[in-house]
Amino acid sequence: MKIALIAHDKKKSDMVQFVTAYRDILAQHELYATGTTGQRVIDATGLSVHRFRSGPLGGDQQIGAMIANNDMDMVVFFRDPLTAQPHEPDVSALIRLSDVYQIPLATNMGTAEVLLKGLEKGFIDWRLIQERRK
Ligand code: PGA
Repeated sequence: MKIALIAHDKKKSDMVQFVTAYRDILAQHELYATGTTGQRVIDATGLSVHRFRSGPLGGDQQIGAMIANNDMDMVVFFRDPLTAQPHEPDVSALIRLSDVYQIPLATNMGTAEVLLKGLEKGFIDWRLIQERRK
């Protein structure tokens, strides 16, 4: 599965904690991330992560493009609901596209844990039998 990891600045430590806790599961999948989040995850866990641009510089949109191409299977996006983001439209667009394409999306740790446990049990395997659109 292709899994996107994104965390706003005040949530990056949560993301590192989350990826560290679920490292064994995540290591079996293809990981993608916005630039700074990806670097934090790589530094903390040594996992292989494809890094896009930083979120405010277009990284959210790059991940959104993968979703629009039906080429992303899950999104873990630890948003900061208490801080205004300069790229709020990109954040909304990414969440919107996840809903358009029915991509499992977690925006907080509680949901992300449930998604990862579901991933491990095969609850998201329906993504594998979907024909990938070009
Ligand atoms: P970053 O981007 O990982 O490059 O900080 C995340 C975001 O703010 O969307």
